[in-house]
Amino acid sequence: MRKTRNHPFLAHALACVVMLFPLSTAAQDPTRPASLQPQGPAVNLSYMDRTVRAGDDFYQYADGDWIRRTEIPADREATSPALPLADETDKRVAGLIAEAAKRGAPAGDKSRKIADLYHSFMDEASIEAKGLKPLQPHLDAVAAIHNERELARALGETLRADVDALNNTNFHTPNLFGLWVAPGFNEVEHYTAYLMQGGLQLPDREYYLSDSVAMRDIRSKYQAHIAMMMKFAGFNDTETRAARVVALEHAIAEKHISLAENDDIQKANNTWTQDDFAVKAPGLDWAEYFRGAGLTKQKSFIVWQPTAFTGESGLVASTSLETWKDWLAYHLIESHAIALPKAFSDEHFAFFGKILSGTPEERARWKRGVDLVSAFLGDDVGQLYAKRYFPPESKAEVEAMVTNIKAAFRRRIDGLSWMNPATKAEAQAKLDTLYVGVGYGESWHDYSNYEVNADDLFGNLWRARLSEYHRQVARLGTSIDRKEWSMTPQTINAVNLPLQNALNFPAGILQPPFFDPQAPAAANYGSIGAVIGHEISHTFDNLGSSFDSKGRVRNWWTPEDLAHFEAATARLAAQYDKYKPFPDLALNGKQTLGENIADLGGLAAAYDAYHASLAGQAASAREGLSGDQQFFLAFAQNWAEKDRDAALREQVLTDGHSPGRYRALEVRNVDAWYASFEVQAGEKLYLAPTDRVRIW
Ligand SMILES: [Zn+2]
Repeated sequence: MRKTRNHPFLAHALACVVMLFPLSTAAQDPTRPASLQPQGPAVNLSYMDRTVRAGDDFYQYADGDWIRRTEIPADREATSPALPLADETDKRVAGLIAEAAKRGAPAGDKSRKIADLYHSFMDEASIEAKGLKPLQPHLDAVAAIHNERELARALGETLRADVDALNNTNFHTPNLFGLWVAPGFNEVEHYTAYLMQGGLQLPDREYYLSDSVAMRDIRSKYQAHIAMMMKFAGFNDTETRAARVVALEHAIAEKHISLAENDDIQKANNTWTQDDFAVKAPGLDWAEYFRGAGLTKQKSFIVWQPTAFTGESGLVASTSLETWKDWLAYHLIESHAIALPKAFSDEHFAFFGKILSGTPEERARWKRGVDLVSAFLGDDVGQLYAKRYFPPESKAEVEAMVTNIKAAFRRRIDGLSWMNPATKAEAQAKLDTLYVGVGYGESWHDYSNYEVNADDLFGNLWRARLSEYHRQVARLGTSIDRKEWSMTPQTINAVNLPLQNALNFPAGILQPPFFDPQAPAAANYGSIGAVIGHEISHTFDNLGSSFDSKGRVRNWWTPEDLAHFEAATARLAAQYDKYKPFPDLALNGKQTLGENIADLGGLAAAYDAYHASLAGQAASAREGLSGDQQFFLAFAQNWAEKDRDAALREQVLTDGHSPGRYRALEVRNVDAWYASFEVQAGEKLYLAPTDRVRIW
């Protein structure tokens, strides 16, 4: 799924690896009892537009009528047919929170913490009454910085575990740098410290460097927004300060590497000892930085983007102390806007919601409260969710589908004419050791070090980020848990964790419209089956193929096999480079390559598994559609979405996933699709058999 952007609760964007799904919807009363909408079969005839030919525009053919009649709710940047599921999930979690509150448990109890965290967000009167008070000591500390040593210390104190390169793929942190704790590239059995570039509030370097009219407009509005936020916080001369902050972020953006470059594991695998930083990235007082971050004992780090570290560290020395102090103060305000009086949170939404994503209205407060609880106590509430809403029959059925799709993958690997036996054996070994989690994890996160107070939203936000940071730092050097989940059960998404060689399919996505126990096999394999295949395929995409069966970075390919693989994937990248959502903006085939490979591999494996599931029986036609037609339509309907232009533009620039309408077009590379819909040469999507990209 696509990642959610500028999530106000996490300092970073929550990301997803499968596909996306838009965030939330119009206001609902959280106290209303939850009730599931009746769900039809996963192939939805009413979505189709049969006035176009499948071979000319398959996305429009499968989804055109749904697109025509669907309006994006005012509080969303995008929508999809999964919207009712998102709404229902919000209501269910709100219900669980309400039950937790009714229990009246003593302080420190899990249900009490859930209730108190939610209450602290809903108690707007208390937030207004406190005003700037909770933030002020932090602003005072910034104002008291007198020299570069103190600056380095303060920058170190901002470090949080808010980035994630390979699991939930999030390369964005507004702090100068971000920490990711994960199994080591070179020491896969232990948790290792990865450091990543950061320092920007806008989603990506392109927002600072692009010369397009749209981006210049966003930048000038951004500068006005900074001035406003600083004015609210009592600063004088805010126009000058805002200009300095934007100039500094622009300079930082110039040092950043691009999202497409971030995908190259070999370039990211740079081990620096603490002493190396002063030599390789002079400028910042690194000893003081690591002291501020509480990392003096950590001997070495993997530095993902060495050039950015050198560049950003240089900027610490070459930019005035006053500018850095303005930057620190503004970042403090922005990162805590949701826990400050209404003027701050409204202005935060006015820029990041309205201007950046084009969303006219903010989501209802109770829904944002639900998000907050899921973000900071996600497993505590998720444990309740899984018990209540995920039937064991669904778990068993999805596990059976996983087994079938893995088997289909296995046969595909065996059948590849171009691949050498040695490479095949390694690929099969990776499938053998792949851990597939369905519904929920085997253990739960422990939040006991996170202190929650019912009338202290600012403190709850501050401590949530800090206790997560401390939890991650405490894991450094310890043995990894390969079965640990990186998503909560209520998440409507799925993920591949390459360093653990593991997949997570949360309970949240194992429901209609993605999976419906009542739907025919063709529909389930075309929708959730292709999602399962997508995640398995990540194991073998351009990035996943860098890791072996134990999650080690190791080239297990023969040179000829690798050359063949790279040539095929380059053709897929070229295919996606040609799609243009806007006249001035095309997709970046390299930035979206891993996801496009996963979509293609997932579609092919799900198709095979669907046929295997028929066990020799003919597929039954429904409503005049053959089994294969249902399969491909379910696939394309999974990708139905409607986006606001600003949000779509942001996705194209900052996301590893192609927009849904182009993901649906992977069918062009599958022979069976041509036969199913009698697609002929001359139709717009037609590719000659030799032009169809075949990877797995
Ligand atoms: Zn993916």
